[in-house]
Amino acid sequence: MTSPLPDPVIELSGVRASYGRIEVLHGVDLKASPGEFLAMLGPNGAGKTTTLHVLAGLVQATAGHVHIAGRHVNGTNPDALARVGVCLITEGRGVFPNLSVSDNLRVFSSSGTPVSVIEERSYDRFPRLAERRNQLAGTMSGGEQRMLALARGLATDPAVLLLDELSIGLAPLIVESLYESVVESAKDGVTVIAVEQFATLVLDLADRACIMGHGKISDEGPPAMIAGRLRDAYLGGS
Ligand code: ATP
Repeated sequence: MTSPLPDPVIELSGVRASYGRIEVLHGVDLKASPGEFLAMLGPNGAGKTTTLHVLAGLVQATAGHVHIAGRHVNGTNPDALARVGVCLITEGRGVFPNLSVSDNLRVFSSSGTPVSVIEERSYDRFPRLAERRNQLAGTMSGGEQRMLALARGLATDPAVLLLDELSIGLAPLIVESLYESVVESAKDGVTVIAVEQFATLVLDLADRACIMGHGKISDEGPPAMIAGRLRDAYLGGS
């Protein structure tokens, strides 16, 4: 990143969002600072994915304010948000299975980063991808496919990295190695919001954590404090 980002780099205030006529976010307030790693936890259906999708422009807020990198971005489309530096790694594998590793990296240049730079950065960060550059992505293991999706996202030098269940379906050792790269990126100034069912690991890594319940942030604070309150949240006591 060339210029310092404003603090907070992410700010949601009173954000509401709906699918059709059903409102699922009922006033989300959330802030994150440059380089902060925020873990977002909470039960199924609480609105975590929808919150990430609002930040990425895939779902538009019906009320409230969305500020990213000092800009008011309500109504902004996903491509424009990618250019502002928002990168969403969605649930699932997130790669083109019929393209090679190299081609997967090459098609992802909408952020303006040259493809050669994206390839070079990805292979430096994940040498395993360099070994497999000509392999079709769909024939790689689940962990390698998530690695590719993450490599592609990180290589665009995002300001904000939004991770939706990075760990899903992966062995714990692979999850740890993927999160190591995420932590390194946060140290380099990338703001990370990680939605994760695998709470123990992200609570160990995060700077701060929040719990989402019933379409709102119900609690937030240091990871150790949130760890102690998770049980109640999952049992509906939040
Ligand atoms: P999970 O971990 O189960 O994905 P979540 O906290 O990420 O949960 P969301 O996926 O944001 O929650 O879902 C919030 C609510 O919105 C849920 O009631 C869900 O059924 C509903 N919802 C999510 N996506 C859609 C959609 N495309 N159309 C209609 N309703 C949706």
